Amino acid sequence: MTEQEVARNFNDIRRRIAEAEMNAGRKPGSVTLCAVSKFHPVTAVYDAIKCNQLLFGENRVQEAYKKFIQINEDQAIVLKPELHIIGTLQLNKVKHAVMVASCIQSIDREEVLVEIEKQCQKMHKTIKIFFEYHTGEASKSGYLDYEKLRTSVKNCAEGMYPHIIPNGFMTMAPFTHDEETVRASFKTMREIATRLKESFPLLPLTELSMGMSDDYAIAIQEGSTMVRIGTALFGPRETSEEIQ
Ligand SMILES: *Cc1c(COP(=O)(O)O)cnc(C)c1O
Repeated sequence: MTEQEVARNFNDIRRRIAEAEMNAGRKPGSVTLCAVSKFHPVTAVYDAIKCNQLLFGENRVQEAYKKFIQINEDQAIVLKPELHIIGTLQLNKVKHAVMVASCIQSIDREEVLVEIEKQCQKMHKTIKIFFEYHTGEASKSGYLDYEKLRTSVKNCAEGMYPHIIPNGFMTMAPFTHDEETVRASFKTMREIATRLKESFPLLPLTELSMGMSDDYAIAIQEGSTMVRIGTALFGPRETSEEIQ
Protein backbone atom coordinates (compact mmCIF):
# COMPACT_ATOMS: atom_id res chain seq x y z
CA MET A 1 0.00 0.00 0.00
CA THR A 2 1.38 3.44 -0.90
CA GLU A 3 1.81 6.30 1.53
CA GLN A 4 -1.08 8.10 -0.22
CA GLU A 5 -3.38 5.10 0.14
CA VAL A 6 -2.57 4.82 3.85
CA ALA A 7 -3.26 8.55 4.27
CA ARG A 8 -6.59 8.17 2.50
CA ASN A 9 -7.51 5.24 4.74
CA PHE A 10 -6.69 7.23 7.88
CA ASN A 11 -8.91 10.10 6.74
CA ASP A 12 -11.66 7.68 5.90
CA ILE A 13 -11.55 5.70 9.14
CA ARG A 14 -11.28 8.81 11.32
CA ARG A 15 -14.34 10.27 9.60
CA ARG A 16 -16.28 7.02 10.06
CA ILE A 17 -15.33 6.83 13.73
CA ALA A 18 -16.59 10.40 14.18
CA GLU A 19 -19.84 9.46 12.42
CA ALA A 20 -20.27 6.37 14.56
CA GLU A 21 -19.70 8.46 17.71
CA MET A 22 -22.33 10.93 16.57
CA ASN A 23 -24.86 8.25 15.59
CA ALA A 24 -24.43 6.58 18.96
CA GLY A 25 -24.91 9.89 20.78
CA ARG A 26 -21.35 9.72 22.07
CA LYS A 27 -19.10 12.71 22.66
CA PRO A 28 -16.87 13.61 19.68
CA GLY A 29 -13.37 12.29 20.32
CA SER A 30 -14.49 9.72 22.89
CA VAL A 31 -13.10 6.85 20.80
CA THR A 32 -9.34 6.45 20.32
CA LEU A 33 -7.94 4.82 17.20
CA CYS A 34 -5.26 2.21 17.80
CA ALA A 35 -3.59 1.45 14.44
CA VAL A 36 -2.71 -2.24 14.24
CA SER A 37 0.51 -2.52 12.26
CA LYS A 38 1.20 -6.23 12.85
CA PHE A 39 2.55 -8.11 9.83
CA HIS A 40 3.23 -4.83 8.07
CA PRO A 41 6.74 -3.43 7.58
CA VAL A 42 8.08 -0.54 9.64
CA THR A 43 7.49 1.71 6.62
CA ALA A 44 3.74 1.32 7.24
CA VAL A 45 4.26 2.72 10.74
CA TYR A 46 6.19 5.66 9.26
CA ASP A 47 3.35 6.31 6.80
CA ALA A 48 0.89 6.35 9.69
CA ILE A 49 3.06 8.67 11.79
CA LYS A 50 2.93 11.11 8.86
CA CYS A 51 -0.86 11.06 9.34
CA ASN A 52 -0.28 12.12 12.97
CA GLN A 53 -1.07 8.66 14.28
CA LEU A 54 0.55 8.19 17.69
CA LEU A 55 -0.96 4.94 18.96
CA PHE A 56 -0.14 1.53 17.51
CA GLY A 57 -1.02 -2.05 18.30
CA GLU A 58 1.12 -5.12 17.62
CA ASN A 59 0.45 -8.68 18.65
CA ARG A 60 3.85 -10.31 18.46
CA VAL A 61 6.48 -8.98 20.82
CA GLN A 62 9.57 -9.77 18.72
CA GLU A 63 8.15 -8.09 15.65
CA ALA A 64 6.93 -5.12 17.68
CA TYR A 65 10.27 -4.74 19.44
CA LYS A 66 12.25 -4.61 16.19
CA LYS A 67 9.99 -1.99 14.61
CA PHE A 68 9.46 0.26 17.59
CA ILE A 69 13.05 0.26 18.84
CA GLN A 70 13.99 1.52 15.39
CA ILE A 71 11.36 4.27 15.60
CA ASN A 72 12.32 5.20 19.15
CA GLU A 73 15.96 5.55 18.13
CA ASP A 74 15.14 7.57 15.01
CA GLN A 75 16.09 11.19 15.71
CA ALA A 76 13.79 12.35 12.89
CA ILE A 77 10.75 11.14 14.86
CA VAL A 78 10.32 13.81 17.52
CA LEU A 79 6.92 12.80 18.91
CA LYS A 80 7.34 9.15 19.81
CA PRO A 81 4.33 6.90 19.21
CA GLU A 82 2.85 4.72 21.94
CA LEU A 83 2.74 0.98 21.44
CA HIS A 84 0.13 -1.37 22.87
CA ILE A 85 0.67 -5.12 22.85
CA ILE A 86 -2.63 -6.76 21.83
CA GLY A 87 -1.66 -10.44 21.38
CA THR A 88 -1.51 -13.25 23.91
CA LEU A 89 1.71 -12.92 25.84
CA GLN A 90 4.07 -15.79 26.66
CA LEU A 91 5.89 -15.33 29.94
CA ASN A 92 9.32 -15.32 28.28
CA LYS A 93 8.23 -12.37 26.11
CA VAL A 94 7.11 -10.17 28.98
CA LYS A 95 10.48 -8.50 29.49
CA HIS A 96 10.71 -7.18 25.94
CA ALA A 97 7.02 -6.28 25.93
CA VAL A 98 7.52 -4.13 29.02
CA MET A 99 10.61 -2.52 27.48
CA VAL A 100 8.85 -1.33 24.35
CA ALA A 101 5.15 -0.93 25.17
CA SER A 102 3.16 1.57 27.22
CA CYS A 103 0.24 -0.80 27.65
CA ILE A 104 -0.46 -4.51 27.43
CA GLN A 105 -4.08 -5.02 26.37
CA SER A 106 -4.03 -8.79 26.40
CA ILE A 107 -3.83 -9.77 30.07
CA ASP A 108 -5.50 -13.16 30.21
CA ARG A 109 -4.14 -14.77 33.38
CA GLU A 110 -2.73 -13.96 36.79
CA GLU A 111 0.71 -15.36 35.93
CA VAL A 112 1.26 -12.62 33.36
CA LEU A 113 0.56 -9.93 35.96
CA VAL A 114 3.11 -11.51 38.30
CA GLU A 115 5.77 -11.53 35.59
CA ILE A 116 4.99 -7.98 34.42
CA GLU A 117 5.28 -6.72 37.98
CA LYS A 118 8.64 -8.47 38.35
CA GLN A 119 10.04 -7.01 35.12
CA CYS A 120 8.65 -3.52 35.75
CA GLN A 121 10.16 -3.48 39.22
CA LYS A 122 13.60 -4.25 37.75
CA MET A 123 13.21 -1.51 35.15
CA HIS A 124 11.66 1.04 37.52
CA LYS A 125 8.80 1.40 35.10
CA THR A 126 5.04 1.40 35.47
CA ILE A 127 2.86 0.06 32.70
CA LYS A 128 -0.83 0.18 31.85
CA ILE A 129 -2.77 -3.02 31.27
CA PHE A 130 -6.21 -4.02 30.03
CA PHE A 131 -7.86 -7.26 31.09
CA GLU A 132 -8.86 -9.31 28.06
CA TYR A 133 -12.10 -11.20 28.47
CA HIS A 134 -13.27 -14.02 26.23
CA THR A 135 -16.70 -13.17 24.84
CA GLY A 136 -16.74 -14.94 21.48
CA GLU A 137 -16.11 -18.43 20.18
CA ALA A 138 -13.70 -17.59 17.37
CA SER A 139 -10.84 -16.39 19.49
CA LYS A 140 -9.40 -18.49 22.25
CA SER A 141 -7.76 -15.59 24.01
CA GLY A 142 -8.76 -13.77 27.15
CA TYR A 143 -9.95 -14.85 30.58
CA LEU A 144 -12.50 -17.61 30.09
CA ASP A 145 -13.67 -17.53 33.66
CA TYR A 146 -15.31 -14.47 35.19
CA GLU A 147 -14.24 -15.39 38.75
CA LYS A 148 -10.59 -15.59 37.68
CA LEU A 149 -10.86 -12.20 36.02
CA ARG A 150 -12.46 -10.77 39.14
CA THR A 151 -9.67 -12.17 41.32
CA SER A 152 -7.02 -10.52 39.13
CA VAL A 153 -8.80 -7.18 39.28
CA LYS A 154 -9.18 -7.57 43.04
CA ASN A 155 -5.47 -8.32 43.46
CA CYS A 156 -4.66 -5.11 41.58
CA ALA A 157 -7.08 -3.19 43.80
CA GLU A 158 -5.41 -4.63 46.89
CA GLY A 159 -2.02 -3.33 45.82
CA MET A 160 -0.34 -6.57 44.82
CA TYR A 161 1.10 -5.00 41.67
CA PRO A 162 2.36 -1.50 42.39
CA HIS A 163 3.99 -1.12 38.95
CA ILE A 164 0.82 -2.02 37.05
CA ILE A 165 -1.97 0.43 36.21
CA PRO A 166 -5.19 -1.45 35.44
CA ASN A 167 -6.69 0.83 32.82
CA GLY A 168 -9.56 -1.10 31.26
CA PHE A 169 -10.79 -4.14 29.36
CA MET A 170 -10.39 -5.64 25.92
CA THR A 171 -12.33 -8.21 23.94
CA MET A 172 -12.55 -9.64 20.44
CA ALA A 173 -15.94 -10.44 18.95
CA PRO A 174 -16.43 -13.71 17.07
CA PHE A 175 -15.46 -13.60 13.39
CA THR A 176 -18.95 -13.63 11.93
CA HIS A 177 -21.08 -11.28 9.87
CA ASP A 178 -24.02 -11.94 12.15
CA GLU A 179 -24.41 -8.52 13.70
CA GLU A 180 -26.40 -9.67 16.71
CA THR A 181 -23.72 -12.19 17.72
CA VAL A 182 -21.05 -9.51 17.49
CA ARG A 183 -23.17 -7.03 19.40
CA ALA A 184 -23.90 -9.57 22.15
CA SER A 185 -20.18 -10.10 22.62
CA PHE A 186 -19.47 -6.37 23.04
CA LYS A 187 -22.46 -6.01 25.34
CA THR A 188 -21.18 -8.82 27.57
CA MET A 189 -17.82 -7.09 27.83
CA ARG A 190 -19.39 -3.73 28.64
CA GLU A 191 -21.61 -5.22 31.35
CA ILE A 192 -18.72 -7.05 32.97
CA ALA A 193 -16.58 -3.91 32.83
CA THR A 194 -19.38 -1.91 34.46
CA ARG A 195 -19.79 -4.49 37.19
CA LEU A 196 -16.07 -4.59 37.99
CA LYS A 197 -15.77 -0.81 37.91
CA GLU A 198 -18.55 -0.64 40.50
CA SER A 199 -16.83 -3.24 42.67
CA PHE A 200 -13.42 -1.52 42.46
CA PRO A 201 -14.17 2.20 42.10
CA LEU A 202 -10.63 3.29 42.97
CA LEU A 203 -9.09 1.59 39.93
CA PRO A 204 -8.80 3.71 36.75
CA LEU A 205 -10.66 1.15 34.61
CA THR A 206 -11.78 3.67 32.02
CA GLU A 207 -10.92 2.03 28.70
CA LEU A 208 -13.02 -0.43 26.77
CA SER A 209 -10.98 -1.71 23.83
CA MET A 210 -13.46 -3.25 21.40
CA GLY A 211 -13.89 -3.23 17.65
CA MET A 212 -11.73 -4.12 14.64
CA SER A 213 -11.93 -3.34 10.90
CA ASP A 214 -15.20 -5.19 10.35
CA ASP A 215 -17.09 -4.41 13.54
CA TYR A 216 -15.90 -1.12 15.00
CA ALA A 217 -19.15 0.75 14.28
CA ILE A 218 -21.07 -1.80 16.37
CA ALA A 219 -18.42 -1.62 19.09
CA ILE A 220 -18.77 2.17 19.25
CA GLN A 221 -22.54 1.81 19.64
CA GLU A 222 -21.86 -0.55 22.53
CA GLY A 223 -19.55 1.84 24.35
CA SER A 224 -16.06 1.14 23.03
CA THR A 225 -13.47 3.80 23.91
CA MET A 226 -10.72 2.32 21.73
CA VAL A 227 -10.95 0.58 18.37
CA ARG A 228 -8.05 -1.55 17.10
CA ILE A 229 -7.93 -1.31 13.32
CA GLY A 230 -5.43 -2.97 11.01
CA THR A 231 -6.70 -4.11 7.63
CA ALA A 232 -8.89 -1.07 6.95
CA LEU A 233 -5.83 1.18 7.39
CA PHE A 234 -2.91 -0.82 6.04
CA GLY A 235 -4.56 -3.35 3.71
CA PRO A 236 -4.37 -7.14 3.90
CA ARG A 237 -1.56 -8.50 6.05
CA GLU A 238 1.41 -10.10 4.35
CA THR A 239 0.84 -13.41 6.06
CA SER A 240 -2.26 -14.95 7.58
CA GLU A 241 -0.24 -16.82 10.19
CA GLU A 242 -1.29 -15.06 13.36
CA ILE A 243 -0.26 -17.54 15.98
CA GLN A 244 2.68 -16.66 18.19
C1 LIG B 1 -5.14 -8.19 14.27
C2 LIG B 1 -5.90 -7.67 15.42
C3 LIG B 1 -6.71 -6.53 15.26
C4 LIG B 1 -6.93 -5.80 13.94
O1 LIG B 1 -7.71 -6.58 13.09
P1 LIG B 1 -8.25 -6.00 11.67
O2 LIG B 1 -9.38 -6.90 11.35
O3 LIG B 1 -7.12 -6.13 10.71
O4 LIG B 1 -8.65 -4.60 11.87
C5 LIG B 1 -7.35 -6.06 16.40
N1 LIG B 1 -7.21 -6.65 17.60
C6 LIG B 1 -6.45 -7.75 17.77
C7 LIG B 1 -6.34 -8.34 19.13
C8 LIG B 1 -5.77 -8.30 16.69
O5 LIG B 1 -5.01 -9.38 16.87
